[in-house]
Amino acid sequence: MTLDVAWAIAWVRDTAETVAEHRDALVELDRQIGDGDHGENLTRGFTAVIQRLDALEEPPAEVGDVLKLVATTLMSTVGGAAGPLYGTAYLRAAKATGVPELDSAGVVALLEGALEGIVVRGKSTTGEMTMVDAWSPAVEAAVAAADAGQDPAGVLAAAADAAERGAEATIPMVATKGRASYLGERSAGHRDPGAESSALVLRAAARAAGA
Ligand code: ADP
Ligand code: MG
Ligand code: MG
Repeated sequence: MTLDVAWAIAWVRDTAETVAEHRDALVELDRQIGDGDHGENLTRGFTAVIQRLDALEEPPAEVGDVLKLVATTLMSTVGGAAGPLYGTAYLRAAKATGVPELDSAGVVALLEGALEGIVVRGKSTTGEMTMVDAWSPAVEAAVAAADAGQDPAGVLAAAADAAERGAEATIPMVATKGRASYLGERSAGHRDPGAESSALVLRAAARAAGA
């Protein structure tokens, strides 16, 4: 089994729906430790992505073309921290997918590219209560699943499971990056909104693959 451009489009459409469904929950998480706009930011961004996708005269030819469209749209429509972070993640993910069909190793490369984009852009590492705390365990789990011979859907399901656990694990953390870091110790006891949205994005990827 491999994943092609139809999967990438299905992933983006599922992400847009999922983010809109969780808009208020993400706003509430961000209200507790930030400025309360994360759900709004992502809903605006992915709504614009779908509009641009639907307006294309020629459908995108490859996975990387879809990811590039997401990257440029998020960068130009989502302000704050999440726009450039997710934008760079999708851009690096696009660059990591040089082939029309992704096997398990291709999926791992895509996820590694996304994590690298966030880390480079955010100058962040694990344990700082950010989206890295979802993406980093997701990549580790994806590598392990691919090594164990899982197909791309299995790799994405493992990544999504790990991202959900990673988002949960941000609750006791003290934020040292982003707005939540202004709270210092008071950021502990809250789930990071960016880690939560990252888990939603990865679950959408797995669903689109039929997992
Ligand atoms: P803003 O904080 O500008 O309002 P958002 O609310 O949309 O932006 O996004 C906040 C999320 O961005 C946080 O929950 C966190 O996961 C993520 N984030 C912020 N700064 C960084 C960083 N330096 N590295 C990685 N992720 C970050
Ligand atoms: Mg915010
Ligand atoms: Mg903001």
